[in-house]
Amino acid sequence: MGKSIVILGSTGSIGTQALEVAEFGGYKVRAVTANSAVSVLEEQVRKFKPEFAAAADEKAAADLKIRIADTSTKVLAGTEGVCECAACEADTVLNSVVGIAGLAPTLAAISAKNTLALANKESLVTGGELVISMAKNSGVDILPVDSEHSAIFQSMQGCADKKEIKRLILTASGGPFFGKTKQELENVTLEQALNHPNWSMGAKITVDSATMMNKGLELIEAVWLFDMKPEDIDIVVHRQSIIHSLVEFCDNSVIAQLGVPDMRIPIQYALTYPNRVESPVRQLSLAEIGTLTFSEPDYNTFSCINLCKRAISLGGLYPAALNAANEQANEMFRKGLIRFAQIAESVECVLDNISLPELKTADDIFEADRAAREMVLRQQKGN
Ligand code: MG
Repeated sequence: MGKSIVILGSTGSIGTQALEVAEFGGYKVRAVTANSAVSVLEEQVRKFKPEFAAAADEKAAADLKIRIADTSTKVLAGTEGVCECAACEADTVLNSVVGIAGLAPTLAAISAKNTLALANKESLVTGGELVISMAKNSGVDILPVDSEHSAIFQSMQGCADKKEIKRLILTASGGPFFGKTKQELENVTLEQALNHPNWSMGAKITVDSATMMNKGLELIEAVWLFDMKPEDIDIVVHRQSIIHSLVEFCDNSVIAQLGVPDMRIPIQYALTYPNRVESPVRQLSLAEIGTLTFSEPDYNTFSCINLCKRAISLGGLYPAALNAANEQANEMFRKGLIRFAQIAESVECVLDNISLPELKTADDIFEADRAAREMVLRQQKGN
């Protein structure tokens, strides 16, 4: 039997692909967790026979317990249960929880000195300072799963001295609304926002790609993961999603990572690092693709990128407030409560008006998260 892994958020897009990778590589899955998708969780338990399964939603956990009473898998409940899975003995914990809900399990995995394969970018956006210093102090490796960050990480292999790195270049597909004007975006529908050209992902991140908030969050994520200044990270729109990101060195040589847009490559690399093994992913044929294009993002139309730059420059709890405002507004758009354009407006309003204390502990982050969400809810009621 190969490596043992824990998959947090196993019923989502990354989680299910991680299980495919685990099956292909013959890994032992020690724990799976979800928020409330019990029927998928039940299937996974029956197939992978993990020691633990957790549902963050207490009712869902109770339901799961009944459903899999005939198995030897132990059911855990609530955020605590998910954190217990994150801390269980394993070679790698893959965190693909959606949103700030991933922060506590990230901290739990690091406390238990488990290697962390991180797909939950919100852990670093909201708690980057804390997460990175904790990981350093505990000697825990954080391996990126986000395709752009995996590409940067892969492009850095062989770099003798980190000081030689001059600039990171994140590629962005531009999402479904590339080329549209601010006015045209006023009344786009959820269905249009969910129609991503290249990647098949969960609903929250697909809407984040449509607003390009996702790219701004990735910029913040890169600041923490690679210890870079925000001004040394650029974004370029690359519609084909073949180059997954690039690293520029002090001699102006640029190294990039390429591949077909398939998350199983970065997932697998995070699990096999520093080695590479065969994968079921399609080979890249550049001749078949023919053309790769690049352009500057439209920062005026997709103002969320600038809001992220502003939040990371302000530092402290501002990125956590920005993230919370976005999670809240993103959800409200998906529920049909606000228009697409109001996502960016809500986030901007929070950055303009929120007053935040200093960031000292994880509790400050959860408090900033709560305050920012409340502000967005109040704004909506006022409209
Ligand atoms: Mg990404």
